[in-house]
Amino acid sequence: MSRKSEDFDYALDGMTGWRDAYPWQTVALAQRLRDPEQWFPQSLLIHGVAGIGKRTLALNAARALLCDTPRDDHFACGRCASCHYVMQGQHPDLILIEPLEYDENGESKTLENIPVDAIRRMIGLMQVTSHRQRGKIAVIVPAEKMNLAAANALLKTLEEPTSGNRLILVAHQWKRLPATILSRCQRWAAPYPSERDALAFLQAEQVTDPKMLLAQAGGAPLRALAMDDPEMTQMRQSWLATLVVPKRLSPFAEAQTWAAGSRDDVKANFAQWLDVLIAWIGDLARVCAGGDARHYPEYNENMRALAPQVVRAALFRYHRILLQQRRRLSYPLQPRLIVEALLADYRALFFSR
Ligand SMILES: [Zn+2]
Repeated sequence: MSRKSEDFDYALDGMTGWRDAYPWQTVALAQRLRDPEQWFPQSLLIHGVAGIGKRTLALNAARALLCDTPRDDHFACGRCASCHYVMQGQHPDLILIEPLEYDENGESKTLENIPVDAIRRMIGLMQVTSHRQRGKIAVIVPAEKMNLAAANALLKTLEEPTSGNRLILVAHQWKRLPATILSRCQRWAAPYPSERDALAFLQAEQVTDPKMLLAQAGGAPLRALAMDDPEMTQMRQSWLATLVVPKRLSPFAEAQTWAAGSRDDVKANFAQWLDVLIAWIGDLARVCAGGDARHYPEYNENMRALAPQVVRAALFRYHRILLQQRRRLSYPLQPRLIVEALLADYRALFFSR
């Protein structure tokens, strides 16, 4: 990560290593690029679940829109000076905002929110005349991470757009954006890969068990890729093993096994643990409704055995509580207590009948 000029701080944030659009995105991107005036208006919102490559899609759209000599199919040439700058993360007209902070060594740290300062700086950069005469493009990923002050600052620029500039918001959960922002953006549902495309991608990335990981990641290939870590896989399997037999589950002991460790370890694991639990409960709800498990098909039979013991209304209520927990804090102050409480509630689901 190199940052050559203080002015372009945010133009460089997070753009570590270029990636061309994924195979499942090219058709939809080509269609949009054919008519940029219509399909890349002043404010666009690209949305879809996490792990399908929305950030890459947005950056590839930006590269094409900024390209000096686009190809006949309107894709970026990949060879001109503008493309070169974009791929290096150093294009003065491309501003990428992510919830990241850099220390003096250039090491990045993930922030809980996108602060208002980042949006103010972006607005400042957008007001400077574009360097390469193609307007400026700001990409905000994920937009729902803007705190309230940041969202309000952004809203002001949406109300008074600067001609020729474009704003691309990327959101995993677009419904969490303020209605005032949503109403000013055109919406684009990011292309979702077919199972075949996703598996082909994971195989090319030499993932150990693509089919299992893809299922556990809910069909999102980049999420599956991020989950491909032997230690993590083992951890996930041990978490699942405790959920299979709720009667034998000891919330206190389970919380002690990993949620009482060092802050960094727990921080790394908590979000994953919550994701596993949410996916598990989602699967259980599906099985209760007569369907099949989607994330953990290998536990289909176990879930069928559990289903008659659960009150569905309680299961949905619990699912909602888990989602709230995930929204509220990616890292709670007392993770061990939260894990213990959530597992106690889980266990109680099977005794309420
Ligand atoms: Zn180019």
